[in-house]
Amino acid sequence: MGLRLWAATTNQGKLRDFRVAARAFAVEIEPLPGLESIEAPEEDGDTFAANAVLKAVYYSRFAPGALVLADDSGLEVDALNGAPGVRSARYAADSGLVDSPDANDNTDVWNNMVLLQRLAQAPAERRPARYRCALACARDGEVVHTAEGSVEGMVLDAPRGTGGFGYDPLFYLPALEKTMAEIDLDTKLMLSHRGRALETLLRKMQG
Ligand code: IMP
Repeated sequence: MGLRLWAATTNQGKLRDFRVAARAFAVEIEPLPGLESIEAPEEDGDTFAANAVLKAVYYSRFAPGALVLADDSGLEVDALNGAPGVRSARYAADSGLVDSPDANDNTDVWNNMVLLQRLAQAPAERRPARYRCALACARDGEVVHTAEGSVEGMVLDAPRGTGGFGYDPLFYLPALEKTMAEIDLDTKLMLSHRGRALETLLRKMQG
């Protein structure tokens, strides 16, 4: 292994996406040591890229000399002018319609419900959407590289499938005639917006 990136996440799904995409490169991706004990910064950027940069810069100060990778991702729906966007994780909570997270952490269910409610009046042709991921890599408080990746789809008017997480049961891939919650893991990893962003980032780093 040539290069090691410390990822500012302990989310196993994200780490898996990153590691699959990194297979073709001589790069090792590990969670940033001690991440759990570092207070998280406020993600108050207006764009995925701004949030990824602020996180990478912030966390890189806890690992002197190391390359630290941070991401931000979410769903953009054209009919909602790009919402939920950077607020994807907190869409229901922001709406004030529901408490989120609740005691059982039904955050994903509430977020999907609010999305359907907001889209109730939108015709099918106005439901194009995409998952987007922005990545930033920083060292000692300075950004080294940034990259983005996305996957295009549509938002259905009812959930389908039991796999995945987040908005996956509503996110439909016309070419596969399935939602992200209905496809197998290998296909999902191949399509991953995170994986695509990481490939772009690693190519930039190698170039
Ligand atoms: P974050 O990148 O951890 O801030 O994630 C933001 C939110 O975007 C998640 O909580 C999900 O609601 C949504 N999201 C991001 N990536 C995916 C995905 O691959 N599938 C489903 N939802 C996603």
